[in-house]
Amino acid sequence: PQPTVAIVGRPNVGKSTLFNRLVGKRVALVDDRPGVTRDRREGEGKLLGLEFKVIDTAGFEDEDPDSLPGRMRAQTEAAVRDADVALFLIDGREGLTPLDEEIGRWLRGEDTPVVVAANKAEGQAGETGRLEAFALGLGEPFALSAEHGEGLVDLFEALRPFV
Ligand code: GDP
Ligand code: MG
Repeated sequence: PQPTVAIVGRPNVGKSTLFNRLVGKRVALVDDRPGVTRDRREGEGKLLGLEFKVIDTAGFEDEDPDSLPGRMRAQTEAAVRDADVALFLIDGREGLTPLDEEIGRWLRGEDTPVVVAANKAEGQAGETGRLEAFALGLGEPFALSAEHGEGLVDLFEALRPFV
C-alpha cells in the first residue's frame, strides 16, 4: 500500500494550502456525508519524486478550539494513527500557541512519527516561530512556505525516511 502522510495542526496554519500544493489537481473527495469525512480530504501527493497518499485533516476546525472535542477530532486521531508520518504545521509568523502545544502533547503520546514544520516562513519570516517549535519536543522543526513553495527540499528530507 502507498505510504500515508497526515497533515495536522490548528486552524489557519496552512494545512489545506500545503495539501493543494502536494496534490495539485489530483484531489479525491472520499466521502461527503456530513460529519463523517466532511473535511477529510485525501489525494495522491507528489514531492520531488516521492509519491504518497496525503490527508488534509480538519479535526481542530469547527469546534471550540480550547476543548478539542467531537467527531472531527476523533477522525483526525484515526487519520494520524493510520498514517506513516504526521506532518505537524505551526504558523511560523505567529509562533507557538496554546493549541499548538496541546496538539503537540497529544502527538507525543502517539506512536506515529511526527515531523514539525513552521509554515508561512517565506524569507526569514518564520524563524522565531521555528525556533519556538523546538519546545514541542518533536524534533527539529524546518521552515516552510506552502503558499510560496519554499522549504520543499527540507520537507522532502523530513518525509523521505517514512514514505
Ligand atoms: P488551514 O486552516 O490550516 O487549512 O489553512 P489554509 O491552508 O486554509 O490557510 C490559511 C491562510 O493562511 C490562508 O489565507 C492562506 O493563504 C495562508 N497561508 C497558507 N500558507 C501560507 C504561507 O506559506 N505563507 C503565507 N504568508 N500565508 C499562507
Ligand atoms: Mg484547511
